[in-house]
Amino acid sequence: MKLILLGAPGAGKGTQAEIVSRKLSIPTISTGNILREAIKNGTETGLKAKGFMDKGELVPDEVVVAMVKERLAEPDCQHGYILDGFPRTVAQAEALDQIAHIDVALNIDTPDDIIIDRLSGRRVCAECGGTYHTSLLKEDKCPACGGAVYQRDDDKPETVTNRLAVYQEKTAPLIDYYQKKGILSTADCRGTIEENYRAVKAALEAKKQ
Ligand code: AMP
Repeated sequence: MKLILLGAPGAGKGTQAEIVSRKLSIPTISTGNILREAIKNGTETGLKAKGFMDKGELVPDEVVVAMVKERLAEPDCQHGYILDGFPRTVAQAEALDQIAHIDVALNIDTPDDIIIDRLSGRRVCAECGGTYHTSLLKEDKCPACGGAVYQRDDDKPETVTNRLAVYQEKTAPLIDYYQKKGILSTADCRGTIEENYRAVKAALEAKKQ
């Protein structure tokens, strides 16, 4: 299955992608993770992306599209994948149409107040990349590997406001884009991780029939 996860930053795309990826044995391709890795490694793509990411702006379409094209050509993508955080603009969606046949665009639908709480409380492990909410962390250490956890620069309040505005302007129109193609399915993800996964599973099954 080739799946896109749509939804605002903080809607829970990454968490659900991880679960679905395990259940279906297909890789998750997170453009945000690839870009953060590129910045860490000081690559040319990382250098191009950093300024945009720090401000909560989108990285230019041509940079991200080239990156995704390269990744989708790898052997582990042959039997399907989950795209988390891509496409984020209509131009990216049109570019994706040229290189892949997507089965389902799953809209992870979460109200704004929950999104703001999730983003401001989100912490990431510097070692394994695991993502947690402060309400579930007993100390500033990753429960999985013991690595130090940190707050992403773009999860700080001043950047979050901009990311949500960018989402509304540039990415929300994709809901309509995929609705018109007949592949949109929506999961109400205002609950716990388990409740949200049940909604995601039901939304995927509804599209399979
Ligand atoms: P994420 O981890 O998906 O929230 O992405 C973090 C940041 O990476 C975004 O705020 C953008 O600056 C950049 N980014 C990730 N995916 C894309 C994309 N598909 N198009 C443009 N910028 C992206």
